[in-house]
Amino acid sequence: MSEPTTDDAADRDHTPDHTETDGFAELGLRPELLAALTRLGYEEPTPIQRETIPLLLQGRDLVGQAATGTGKTAAFALPILQRLEQTGGRPEPIALILVPTRELAVQVSEAMYKYGRDLGARVLPIYGGQPIGRQLQALSGGVHVVVATPGRALDHIARKTLPLDKIEMVVLDEADEMLDMGFAEDIEAILDATPKTRQTVLFSATIPPRIHAISKRHLRDPLKIQIGLGSSSLAHTPRIRQVAYVVQRAHKAAALGRILDVETPAAAIVFCRTRDEVDQLTETMNGRGYRAEALHGGMSQEQRDRVMSRVRSGTAELLMATDVAARGLDIDSLTHVVNYDVPSAPEAYVHRIGRVGRAGREGVAITLAEPREQRLLSNIERLTKRKIAIEKVPTVADLRAKQIETTIATLRDALQSDDLQKYAAVIDALADEFGIDQLALAAVKLVHAAGGATVDEREIPDASQRIERERAPRAETKYSGDKPDRSRSASGGSRSGAGGKDGGGRLYIGVGRKDGVRPQDLVGAIANETNLTGREIGPIKIAEHFSIVGVPDDSVEEVVSLLRSAKFKGKKTTVRRYVEN
Ligand code: ADP
Ligand code: MG
Repeated sequence: MSEPTTDDAADRDHTPDHTETDGFAELGLRPELLAALTRLGYEEPTPIQRETIPLLLQGRDLVGQAATGTGKTAAFALPILQRLEQTGGRPEPIALILVPTRELAVQVSEAMYKYGRDLGARVLPIYGGQPIGRQLQALSGGVHVVVATPGRALDHIARKTLPLDKIEMVVLDEADEMLDMGFAEDIEAILDATPKTRQTVLFSATIPPRIHAISKRHLRDPLKIQIGLGSSSLAHTPRIRQVAYVVQRAHKAAALGRILDVETPAAAIVFCRTRDEVDQLTETMNGRGYRAEALHGGMSQEQRDRVMSRVRSGTAELLMATDVAARGLDIDSLTHVVNYDVPSAPEAYVHRIGRVGRAGREGVAITLAEPREQRLLSNIERLTKRKIAIEKVPTVADLRAKQIETTIATLRDALQSDDLQKYAAVIDALADEFGIDQLALAAVKLVHAAGGATVDEREIPDASQRIERERAPRAETKYSGDKPDRSRSASGGSRSGAGGKDGGGRLYIGVGRKDGVRPQDLVGAIANETNLTGREIGPIKIAEHFSIVGVPDDSVEEVVSLLRSAKFKGKKTTVRRYVEN
């Protein structure tokens, strides 16, 4: 793999006058696409678009890596649309885009449809859980581009309802996530079924070794385009204000409410670790007067669609979600991203908060950390080379002050309006009896209450003090020291073959080879029910009658309780902590 030269890009950056040169036109895109981009308000290509679009237009295979929110969709969508020809008659797909989730299939299709409107592009999302009849009908009507989840794509390929003969381009979007979800085999099978002459493109936020393996097998002389995390995403989004609050687990829900009351986000996404947490927190926040919606893998497709449209239309102001459910989602109006827990992988943090501060807008990233999670914050700071300010949970007095501030701003606005005279009769009616001052106070009271000011008298204990002390000198604490009972077996060789993901915990699951269970079934079921990523799951041993699966030690109890009603290969079964002896 070779790195691209950056000469061209550098030249373009030196172009003195923006209005004279159109960044996208210089990439060689056709006029219909340029018109669409203008209509959408895209002024300049993002770094990943600038680097990859020209190469893709030349037909090169490539592996592109850039953080969430950097415009990877357009980077592959525009070159696909460039190839579109109006042939008359029923079109056969010229491009197949594979994505990890149904939401992304819909989102990518919508984006492509918008970019390709003037070209009459027919783009079809297909995914599991949607009636196959409707998909068959749409496919037989003819489409230019199919955006599919791997499982469903493979179903259609097997039924011969997804014609592949004309496929010129295959894109693997969010490739890392697809592999984590256990789609590797499906992806390989799909690639094997498409024409060898195709162009193959792989986009991913991270490039784990397994991606190299796929790239080596299925891509032709690929170029690797990497837009560094530090240099291009966060570093270029100084508009994201990053803060963290340290609170004990028991006070987190209250702290979240208080923080949001003070922050007053227009729209926020709150990331939680588990479905249960999503559901509980949604209830809590609705109880506090927020319009909150839940999004997780346990919901039906219709439910999810309804939630997303309520969020997109501004009907809901808080979206509570698990990582997997919200992966790659792009919501225009977001002002705040909240991590209800510190994500254990710093990359996950970067991907989550990449959802705000886009296109020069301001954004806020809020993280709630439990005392023991402070270490993870330092890891994130190291990766992003950006400081996360630890702030005190707002006190009752802080909240009141904020509410007064809001009321003052509201009144200030009203004082600027030119129709105030309309209300003079009210003053006339009451001024003599109560005096102007009293009258004004009563009016202010009503404005204040109408602003939805929460009355919340409880102080929420802040735990940041203690943590700040722990943070500095204890940096050298040994991992195994925390878990004396596991360190022996870990050093005794059970880590072998585990890669880096052996978190020390083991699950016993009562299905095995006799049930036809495969590693990807276990990873899929666990990732679906919990908020663990595929990377955190493993090693996996499948015996005749049962399986042993590694998960992070501190998540074992939670995972066991979440999996209680889960089905593996259609069967309910025992799941418990596994202890070797
Ligand atoms: P990624 O796939 O890298 O996470 P997306 O493709 O979802 O990112 O794009 C994120 C957001 O940025 C979308 O709302 C998209 O419309 C917007 N966007 C993409 N390219 C540009 C651009 N060149 N100028 C302005 N906005 C853009
Ligand atoms: Mg994307």
